[in-house]
Amino acid sequence: MRAEFLPVARPSITDLEVAAVETTLRSGWLTSGPQTAAFEEEFAEAVGAKHAVAVASATAGFFLVLQALGLEEGDEIVTASLTWPSPVNAIHLSGARPVFADIHPDTLQLDIDSVEAVLTPRTRAILPVHFAGQPVDLDRLGELCSSRGILLIEDAAHAIGTQYRGRPIGERDNPAVFSFHAIKNVTCGEGGMITTGDPALAQRLRRLRFHGIDQDAWKRHGKEAASYDLIEPSGKHNLTDLQAALGRAQLQRLDELQASRLRLATLYESLLDQVPELSRPVRVPYPSKPAWHLYTVFVDSERAGLERDQFRAELRRRNIGTGLHFLAVHELSYYRQKFPQPPGMLRHSEWVSARIVTLPLFADMQEGDVGDVVEAIRDVFSARAS
Ligand SMILES: *Cc1c(COP(=O)(O)O)cnc(C)c1O
Repeated sequence: MRAEFLPVARPSITDLEVAAVETTLRSGWLTSGPQTAAFEEEFAEAVGAKHAVAVASATAGFFLVLQALGLEEGDEIVTASLTWPSPVNAIHLSGARPVFADIHPDTLQLDIDSVEAVLTPRTRAILPVHFAGQPVDLDRLGELCSSRGILLIEDAAHAIGTQYRGRPIGERDNPAVFSFHAIKNVTCGEGGMITTGDPALAQRLRRLRFHGIDQDAWKRHGKEAASYDLIEPSGKHNLTDLQAALGRAQLQRLDELQASRLRLATLYESLLDQVPELSRPVRVPYPSKPAWHLYTVFVDSERAGLERDQFRAELRRRNIGTGLHFLAVHELSYYRQKFPQPPGMLRHSEWVSARIVTLPLFADMQEGDVGDVVEAIRDVFSARAS
């Protein structure tokens, strides 16, 4: 058994990141400024976006995109239930109604037939997630949105480095929202980025992320000492230069970080092929390059002989951490009471929510760590069988 606990995720921080943050700390400018501006440019370049707007988190990004959309009571936004609650909260708190569509239980991506079935004249946007770093079927969703004149908003929190039909996520004209939370493939500690091809939207988002003021602090206190005006009231959701310096260093290492994830995930695939008690999500049926943000398996008690939560506890006892990405949002207390769903409507999301487990996967893991995880899993099953 492993002597040391293996967490489900851990950021990869090298001297490059430490030096970048230290330089910024000593630079005399800590909040949004030159680092943030450079991070936006480099991120846009990395994903082929026309515009990139840095924000405090992906969650802040959803709020701002929805604020820019100008929602009215009764408006609806279609989204996944098998996701982190963040986009659903943003929809609900922005005054629209979150409408859940079901997923394909094998790829965990939104089922677009299920999306079509819940569209109404009040639908203003579709907000899919690229689950675990595999891409949702963007061409089909994009066509659906343009035929109805509604907005596509991608939750790209897992999708830095993901490609769909040979193109990076973030390159399309519709807004995509990335996360740099500490467990994401690229981290700033906390942070987010909105990409868009629409210059007017980018300009508005820059205003909305900072009180609705037309000049940010760098411009007001920097060399360009200018006046300011308030165009429309908003909150404060800017990314600091300390965070951006960290993000820039991580972005420089993107290829290395992704290559490591791919190597580890490939090893999991071959080792877990020999563990019949577990099933796993499959690749999407169109050309793609996954970012391998999460490595998930399904613990179905009929096949595995134990429940998911027992499986997690058994691995924990063997010094292996696991994660829960995710519980279906419509089954969490608030949403269950607020928007009860007809039985069967979201049956695939519910099936997965009860069985999914995230195994450890992070760039600094070693191949021996993957071996430890699989050995612990085999041990859990053989202990049950005997
Ligand atoms: C992490 C995550 C978010 C939220 O990102 P933050 O930067 O923490 O706000 C949104 N959606 C999904 C699917 C996520 O995993």
